[in-house]
Order: sequence, then C-alpha cells, then structure tokens
Amino acid sequence: MKLLVATRSRHKLDEIREILAVVPDLELLGLDDAGVEPRPEEEDLEPYETFEENAESKARYFFGRTGLTTVADDSGLEVDALDGRPGVRSKRFAPGPAEGLQRDRANNRHLVELLSGVPADERTGRYVCAIALVDGPGPAWTVRGTSPGRLLDKERGQGGFGYDPLFFLPELDRTFAEVSAAEKHALSHRGRAFRLLAERLAETVGRGTTP
Ligand code: IMP
Repeated sequence: MKLLVATRSRHKLDEIREILAVVPDLELLGLDDAGVEPRPEEEDLEPYETFEENAESKARYFFGRTGLTTVADDSGLEVDALDGRPGVRSKRFAPGPAEGLQRDRANNRHLVELLSGVPADERTGRYVCAIALVDGPGPAWTVRGTSPGRLLDKERGQGGFGYDPLFFLPELDRTFAEVSAAEKHALSHRGRAFRLLAERLAETVGRGTTP
C-alpha cells in the first residue's frame, strides 16, 4: 500500500518512516517524492479550532491533488493556565512577523511573559498531535497523541525546537530540549500519535483496506 505523508520536511518523514517500519507492505512518500509542487494555498490549510479538523483539512487537500491515501498531522501546545492557548495557533503565538528560530524565540518569550506570576503547580500543559488519514470522500480516520508536562519560567537546554526549552517532563526531570531525540520520540505527542497510527495500519493493511 502507498501512503502519502503531507510534509515537505525530510527530517519529519525520516522520523515517521522509522515509526511506521513495523507496518508490512507500506510504501511511504513525502510530498516532494510524489512530485506535488508547492502552491501558495498550502499556507491556508489549517484555519480550524481543533487539531483534528486541521489535520483532516490538510490530508483531504493532498488526497484531492494526488488520489493517494494521505496522512497529515497538526500539533501544538495547550497550557491550562491560558485556557488551552496557544493550541492550534502555536506556530504563530507571539504577535509580529518573525519566522524560523526568531519565531520560536518570540513565542517562548511571549509564553514566559503570559505565565509570569503563575505558581509552579498551576503551570501544567500538554503537547498534542492529531493525525488524519483520508482515502476517499467519506469521513477521515483520526488518532491523537498527547504528552503532558509543565511550563518553566526560564528556558533550559539546546535541543529540540519550538517550546521544548520551556516544556519540562516530570518523569525525566528534564525539558524536551535536554533529552536525546530517541528519548523525546518515546514520550512525545508525535511519537505516540504515529505509533497509534502504525498499530491501526498494521491491523488493516493485511486485510487490503485502510482504517
Ligand atoms: P506543526 O503542526 O507540527 O507544524 O506544529 C505547530 C507548532 O506547534 C510548531 O510551530 C511549534 O510551535 C509547536 N510544536 C509542535 N510540536 C512541537 C514539539 O515537539 N516541540 C516544540 N514545539 C512544538
């Protein structure tokens, strides 16, 4: 079975390939492998208020362009003291036009400011990753992985990306920016969601159907 993964990131595709290696007879293609040219409209595929709707929107769009069974993910950080923000707006949380590393820095500064004065035991939150699989006009099939932790008031560690230097995991006694990639995958929202996808695909691929 061929599965299109709606990403242009080689790094993300390699990570997903490792996790889905347990599924027999699965050929994974990234957007570039499948010859899907980038279009400006791809920037507007995630306007919804839930991770699942955004993941489905992206998967449905690329299914429409290729006719291939497609999976897409959407992820972000929910902070309880901020009523779940930044949530689906995690990428563009801080106001202003910064991109890449500058954007991560601005987002982290913004988060630290908004949480200043919030006591340690109320700084709870979680990373969330939803994955949607679309293989026709019917409803998408979705899975969700979460990774609970606490938000620090100062950054710690150089690894990871995004909010990782502020995201502390009590069970590791470190932030996601202080652990190896393998340790992060074992506990991360994305690792958990893609392992659920792998289980579901492994059950169904043998039957010649998708979930
Ligand atoms: P995406 O849906 O994977 O593009 O993630 C959206 C945004 O959520 C990213 O730009 C980050 O700000 C945040 N995010 C998602 N996953 C992670 C993670 O594993 N570490 C840090 N930030 C993350």
